Amino acid sequence: MRILVAGGAGFIGSHLCERLLEMRHTVICVDNLKTGRLANLSEAKKSRQFKFIKQDIRQPLKVAVDYIFNFASYASPPYYKTWSIDTMLTNSLGSHQLLELARRQKAKYLFASTSEVYGDPLRHPQKETDWGNVNPNGERACYDESKRFGEALTMEYVRKFRLNARIIRIFNTYGPRLQKDDGRVISNFINQALRGEKLTVYGSGCQTRSFCYVDDLVEGIVRAAFLPKTRGEVFNLGNPNEFTILEAADMIKELMGKVLKTVYKPLPADDPVRRKPDISKAYKILRWSPRVPLREGLLRTIEWYQKKK
Ligand code: UDP
Repeated sequence: MRILVAGGAGFIGSHLCERLLEMRHTVICVDNLKTGRLANLSEAKKSRQFKFIKQDIRQPLKVAVDYIFNFASYASPPYYKTWSIDTMLTNSLGSHQLLELARRQKAKYLFASTSEVYGDPLRHPQKETDWGNVNPNGERACYDESKRFGEALTMEYVRKFRLNARIIRIFNTYGPRLQKDDGRVISNFINQALRGEKLTVYGSGCQTRSFCYVDDLVEGIVRAAFLPKTRGEVFNLGNPNEFTILEAADMIKELMGKVLKTVYKPLPADDPVRRKPDISKAYKILRWSPRVPLREGLLRTIEWYQKKK
């Protein structure tokens, strides 16, 4: 297949490009390189089946494709808050461009949505049928609401044009290539520990997240994309093992063998209190569940940052 990966130079997108190349597909990566990095594509670029186009997805693309993976968006809270309007337009106008491309070419489509559509969840763990508890005009709304719009638009293309599309909701993911300055908790903690600094815990540190190792996530993405019975479906993809932020900090200190202090900082606005995916649907339809425990994934990630230093 000829596959377009929008946002393919990003953290998850670049791992996905490599996996699709291993599966012998032709991969066309489109990325505006605002947060994506060409360095993330150094492996992919070794393949003759790989092509890179530097372009913003809000501009029309002229490429022949059989499948579109839409991963193009700012994704970490500090980035999407800084480039809030760009984030909103990428997920709305950009998604529209890619959906039109898919419709015209009768290509398949996968939209990378987010656990943020659940907002500060009312039910725990979160199920695909939950509608979300989102502040529509708060600081995170630029991301949450534009991803929700991206989902709604995708489903309208399924209903109106019978587009063969599906949506995945990605929960917190970590691993090699998570940019060290993108402000997310795992990259912050590991890099603070490497520099011998105090770990910055926002709020009490009792809020929870469940962290999925990137290879596990990519396996889930590929299954959601290519297995039967996925058209028009929404899948939670994430690791259901839940940790408080303090537990994650302790684990990183222990794995790195460092005695480090913790400094408490204010909790960002609308920061969800709990987050954990119910992945029973992904298990039932895709036979997917994550395999890499947090300790092991953290060790691999720490090793990658150490090598990069
Ligand atoms: N967080 C933290 N210290 C940091 C960065 C983040 O305590 O240096 C907290 C943040 O407030 C949130 C959780 O860790 O409760 C996960 O934040 P992240 O930005 O990684 O992703 P989010 O799940 O909020 O999108």
